[in-house]
Amino acid sequence: MDTQNFTRSVLDWYDRGHRDLPWRHTKDAYRIWISEIMLQQTRAETVISYYERFLSRYPTVRSLADAPQEELLKSWEGLGYYSRARSLQKAAQIIVSQYGGELPADVERLRALPGIGDYTAGAIASIAFGIPAAAVDGNVERVLCRYDAVTDTVGTPAVRRAIAARAQELVPRDRPGAFANAMMEMGATMCTPRSPKCLLCPVRESCKGFLQGIAQELPVKPKKKAQRVEHRAVLLCMCDGRVLIVRRNEKLLGGLYVFPDMPDGTDPAALCAHMEALGVRTAYDASLGHARHVFTHIIWEMDIHLLLADACAPVPDGRWVTREELAALPLPTAVRRARELAMGILEKGR
Ligand code: SF4
Repeated sequence: MDTQNFTRSVLDWYDRGHRDLPWRHTKDAYRIWISEIMLQQTRAETVISYYERFLSRYPTVRSLADAPQEELLKSWEGLGYYSRARSLQKAAQIIVSQYGGELPADVERLRALPGIGDYTAGAIASIAFGIPAAAVDGNVERVLCRYDAVTDTVGTPAVRRAIAARAQELVPRDRPGAFANAMMEMGATMCTPRSPKCLLCPVRESCKGFLQGIAQELPVKPKKKAQRVEHRAVLLCMCDGRVLIVRRNEKLLGGLYVFPDMPDGTDPAALCAHMEALGVRTAYDASLGHARHVFTHIIWEMDIHLLLADACAPVPDGRWVTREELAALPLPTAVRRARELAMGILEKGR
């Protein structure tokens, strides 16, 4: 099958029926951009409700640029990877100041914006502006590696360049946006990671991976680094109907509020000493149980403890918050269990 036939077969298959996703009803560059950022690392089904809520709250680039950051992060809560929301806002501010509030119809200019890489620039350019640019994400990479039976390890600059070039030659000049969506649809519903539906696939007759019986083993991924396990003690410090939260300075979850924590440590005296070093005198009350959160490279194993403070003493980068304030603040999913426990305790009036 030549290049043109591949493209036509994929487009015909897409035209015969595909998932009805809200961002497929628009060519508005702002909406396409928001959907593409949300879809990074999050499933389409999950994104739908966030997408609609987010756009009714921030219907324009300008409203996103002007949003108070805490409120913006709160509306991102649940999607994770908060750096995406921060980059979105930085990019929105640049779009307002440099492009009058309209996304630029140019791949290079799009790619120069925070949080927009090759894939997202290609997706916005092709879908919103009809520019024949390729959009290669993990889904598209998988389809092409299988179709061409690429057995080299993906992720190296040379293989990435080769796949990008291959994807580019497949883009039709007349319907680049539909083709971008069709390739994503192929990756998400037909050429799926674990069990590709080759017998139903519109390009199976010329798919080398299928014909050679190696489709399922492709693409060859680089070996994953082992996840590091970190044990942490999470401290719920209560005082006068408030709980202490602190803003994290570390790279992971940087800038977000969490509960004070420390590496390891289950000894009550050590936990109280940790709080004393922050300027808060506490008495140990109880162990509240365990929670686990898996990041990409790190697993947090968290023991949650309840401490009662003498007074709501000021803490650097800290806030003593009521139950209502805690509910309204954006906290990372990693501390969801601790937050639920804190809310329950505050409700009982401790
Ligand atoms: S034939 Fe199978 S492996 Fe090849 S593109 Fe189609 S679904 Fe993917």
